[in-house]
Amino acid sequence: MSKPLLNTGGLPRFSEITPEHVKPAISQLLAEGRALVEQLLAANTRYSWENLVAPLEEMDDRISRAWSPVGHLNAVVNTEALRHVYNECLPLLSEYGTELGQHEGLYQAYRQIADGEEYTHLDTAQKKVIDNALRDFRLSGIELDASRRARFKEIMQDLSRLTSKFSDNVLDATNAWHNTITAEEKLAGLPESARALAAQTGQQRNQDGWVFTLEFPSYYPVMAYADDRDLRKEMYTAYVTRASETGPTAGLYDNNANMEKIMALRHEAARLLGYDNFAERSLATKMAESTEQVMTFLADLATRAKPAAQQELDELRNFARDQGLDDLQAWDIPYYSEKLRHHKYAISQEELKPWFPEPRVVSGLFAIVERLYGLRIETVDEIDTWHEDVAFYRISDAPGNVRGEFYLDLYARPHKRGGAWMDECIVRRGRSGEVQTPVAYLTCNFSPPIGDNPALFTHDEVITLFHEFGHGLHHMLTQIDYAGVSGINGVAWDAVELPSQFMENWCWEREALDLISGHYRTGEKIPAELYERMHRARNFQSALQMLRQLEFALFDFRLHRDYDPKKGARIRPTLEQVRKEIAVLQPPEFNRFENSFTHVFGGGYAAGYYSYKWAEVLSADAFSAFEESGIFNRETGERFLRSILEQGGSREPMELFVEFRGREPTIDALLRHSGLAA
Ligand SMILES: [Zn+2]
Repeated sequence: MSKPLLNTGGLPRFSEITPEHVKPAISQLLAEGRALVEQLLAANTRYSWENLVAPLEEMDDRISRAWSPVGHLNAVVNTEALRHVYNECLPLLSEYGTELGQHEGLYQAYRQIADGEEYTHLDTAQKKVIDNALRDFRLSGIELDASRRARFKEIMQDLSRLTSKFSDNVLDATNAWHNTITAEEKLAGLPESARALAAQTGQQRNQDGWVFTLEFPSYYPVMAYADDRDLRKEMYTAYVTRASETGPTAGLYDNNANMEKIMALRHEAARLLGYDNFAERSLATKMAESTEQVMTFLADLATRAKPAAQQELDELRNFARDQGLDDLQAWDIPYYSEKLRHHKYAISQEELKPWFPEPRVVSGLFAIVERLYGLRIETVDEIDTWHEDVAFYRISDAPGNVRGEFYLDLYARPHKRGGAWMDECIVRRGRSGEVQTPVAYLTCNFSPPIGDNPALFTHDEVITLFHEFGHGLHHMLTQIDYAGVSGINGVAWDAVELPSQFMENWCWEREALDLISGHYRTGEKIPAELYERMHRARNFQSALQMLRQLEFALFDFRLHRDYDPKKGARIRPTLEQVRKEIAVLQPPEFNRFENSFTHVFGGGYAAGYYSYKWAEVLSADAFSAFEESGIFNRETGERFLRSILEQGGSREPMELFVEFRGREPTIDALLRHSGLAA
């Protein structure tokens, strides 16, 4: 039997990986890892970077390189069989991680290095690796007695299983429902692109008529443009009740019990480690210093945004009333917002699409990055991928000097997890002069090409692409040679959105837009007057949007901070309380957005959703340096590259920010960009 997952030279051999390979490969690697630890500990009494840390990093890397393509395939070409083995391996990996994290001998060996003479000669990044390791031993329960350690390990395994189940339920619920329309009059108001996508989806599924799904590129245009209010309500209801006890797939993929268990286990784990709650535990690895600091930050922004958000909502209500609608409901909001935007600025996402054909956007994005950082990005053919739509690129800083490589998977399709993200395929490491080039997966869920036309992106989609590319650059341009703190590794989670949100700014600058846009038929640049309108519309409903982000962040943070074992998670009541305090909009009673809130219940943003806003302070302030010096200023670009992008997690984010900006961050640029400056 060939073993594509164990052969970790070069890129993953996606076409050869089958579900049968996964468990044997992972089991073998974990067994090798366990044996190596014992062997290294036994072979020495004086531990050093070279005889302990470096070989362990090497082993970790082999495991990551085997597991990364599996996790990725599970997310982008999900099948029953793959999901099954993926879920079988999760507890094995979790067990391994906690076992090493609780390994007394290993812990003592790291302490010996930290306390010894060698430590003083290590470089900054190496010291950070050791410091982080000691911190993570503590966070894995090393200081607990045997029975508590065992319980902690069990909790970690249960959590990895439950959070994966949470995401699976959301994906299944998204796939489980669609709406087939055979009467064309029901499509009134929908732009041609949305109709064509629905017709194409119908053909792919051998159904007559137009098929609308809960994948975002199919769902959203209905909400924004369909005149038929019942259709909007039907789609909205299906979307916001996914994975819950209500709505059209009620009870089939219900996440309620999972959420309750996840919350209880997180709280228990945090308490075992000596924290009052999981929010405190979450901050142990973040830039924010205390739960009060986070709450004050969020509450302050909410106070600033609320009056403006109320005005925006009043304006929308009045506008809808003028159009003859007296009871504005949740399924009317995107629709009338889009109409109002058009009324005020004569602009719509749909109108902008012809200006953003995929080839132009992608090559323009590369051109911008090339100018900013002195790089070169080129496509590489004949790479083994998981789908014919996937492209592969290489970034160099001089001929023959490759900095990183990435897969780009742009379009939504069935059995691909929704949203957009960057993930690591291969992480940068270096040893004795040899450097392992970092490789990234950039995944989006954009509207696919229809017929023979190139894919046409909304401006929002272009912004999303820039965002993910920012994460990608952070991962790929790092110059740090130790995997634990290279790229995004070891970067405090609430600073990790700095390079990504930072990149979004270029999508609004004329000079940059000229590089990423061009009419798909004529190649013509966005006309000056359209650009004007885009800009005037930039902060349309921005306070409402900010308030919504703050609502999610406060909900997430309070949920984890206020967990009470006697009362349970109180998920709905907490959400309702947050809304009562800060929201201007109350969604309908049946809305179960929390049941598909994968950031918090399925991923790493638990008690960390605030990170988006936190990092936006950093990203807005960092961009203001370019506003001052010119958006393509090479010297400023170089400084951002050297101080932020290349440094990974080797130093504290505040220290890096100050090195770049010459001072600590202020909130001013964020308020100004959001139209909230006093
Ligand atoms: Zn991001």
